[in-house]
Amino acid sequence: MDPARLARLAQKTDLSALLDRLEAMTNDELAELLGADEAGASGDGADGADVPVYQPPAPDADFYRLFDRALTAEQQDARRPIRRFMTEDVAPVINDYWERAEMPFELVPGLRDALRQSLGDQPARTYCTDPFLAGLVAMEIPRVDPSIGTFLGVTWGLCLYSIWQFGSDAQKEKWIGPLERFEAFGSWALTEPEHGSDAALGLATTATRDGDTWTLDGAKKWSGNATFADVTVVWARDTADGQVKGFLVEKDTPGFEVTKLEGKIAKRAVQNVDIVLDGVQVTEADRLPGVRSFKDVAGQLAIARAGVAWEACGMAMGLYEQTLDYCTRRMQFGKPIAGFQLVQEGLVRMLGNVVALQAMMLGLAGCYDEPRRLHERASLAKVFCVDKMRETASIGRGLLGGNGILLEHGVARLFADAEAVYSYEGSREMNVLITGRAVTGLSAFV
Ligand SMILES: Cc1cc2nc3c(=O)[nH]c(=O)nc-3n(C[C@H](O)[C@H](O)[C@H](O)COP(=O)(O)OP(=O)(O)OC[C@H]3O[C@@H](n4cnc5c(N)ncnc54)[C@H](O)[C@@H]3O)c2cc1C
Repeated sequence: MDPARLARLAQKTDLSALLDRLEAMTNDELAELLGADEAGASGDGADGADVPVYQPPAPDADFYRLFDRALTAEQQDARRPIRRFMTEDVAPVINDYWERAEMPFELVPGLRDALRQSLGDQPARTYCTDPFLAGLVAMEIPRVDPSIGTFLGVTWGLCLYSIWQFGSDAQKEKWIGPLERFEAFGSWALTEPEHGSDAALGLATTATRDGDTWTLDGAKKWSGNATFADVTVVWARDTADGQVKGFLVEKDTPGFEVTKLEGKIAKRAVQNVDIVLDGVQVTEADRLPGVRSFKDVAGQLAIARAGVAWEACGMAMGLYEQTLDYCTRRMQFGKPIAGFQLVQEGLVRMLGNVVALQAMMLGLAGCYDEPRRLHERASLAKVFCVDKMRETASIGRGLLGGNGILLEHGVARLFADAEAVYSYEGSREMNVLITGRAVTGLSAFV
């Protein structure tokens, strides 16, 4: 209670008698009184005059109504079920999973239903063929939780997409339906302990053919979902022609050892791993026949990279909304901290970033029909969106004060997750170099 307001009230009335009367009232009488007060919606101004009671506006990250104007009615409809699922079903429970570093399997059936409502009867097909709709989903999910976004991005965006794009009819027949219905889960293993940014040149996992059998040897690192995945797309270099090829390795294949990575400070609900491939045997029927070289993988990575830029945009929106909501409720010096100039400066910087990211992503959405240049355009979006999202996370975390490092207020989890998004799908530097090469015509990689 603000002492100055109490003092002003004491000049008008006998405070002690007023409190006695209030104390003696029943709950119903109090509720009726407060309801009447709300209807009048007035408070006590500094000069004793009535001023309106503060009613915070609902946080809304679409300040320019960019999505309202850019999206068709069907696209608007597609956003709603997944957004509802994330806010109503995921938000209340996700912190516990994140803190325990566990995959929230209880949410998988709800996610499947929400995706079906958002993307139609063949949601994975829509996800693979309509990158704009997939982008909207990839934005709405991490607005609430980026770990769920990565779970989907790996099982559908990387694993299922590889099979859909490069697989044989038999492989598609076997895997696409179960992966789409979440009856099976997928992982995708490109990065190695010794080769991350230089995977294109340095990939050291080998594939050696003998008749109909391929033997895979090497190691992989990170591969999301791999602790529970039924199938992992493993990228390996053919010892005969030196080209990178893709193989489908099923869970429990002898020599395929998966160990969960512990001690992560970001995306803790995502199950990242170390994998050892020690003489893993698969058949020619398990090789993805549509892959000719690493260039094919790079094409897939461009779409995935655009997905990460959508993710950063969604995270920035969530960070802004959570921070604004907190600042309108948190009282200091007798008023909501949102009423202080320096706090508003931070909120406005966050909102400016959010609108810039939304505009950039709507711009990138217009580039999907020119796949040849998507690579560099997605890289620019990844660099810019993640930089600005990370800045937005930092401002938001600060505006929450000490509560900014507590999971319960929503911002801390996104703040920590920002660090993973900064480095994956090509680190910031790699994406700078891809864009730099495109605009200068000069490669600065090595
Ligand atoms: C949460 C998470 C999930 C992931 N999921 C998957 C997955 O499902 N499947 C998968 O295959 N991988 C996955 N990854 C791996 C991810 O793609 C790599 O972390 C990323 O490509 C960077 O590789 P690295 O971590 O080995 O860093 P490094 O390549 O070791 O880079 C370290 C630093 O050096 C810089 N650097 C390197 N080369 C240059 C250069 N030429 N010029 C300037 N700077 C340079 C980098 O930018 C970076 O800052 C995941 C990673 C994370 C964090």
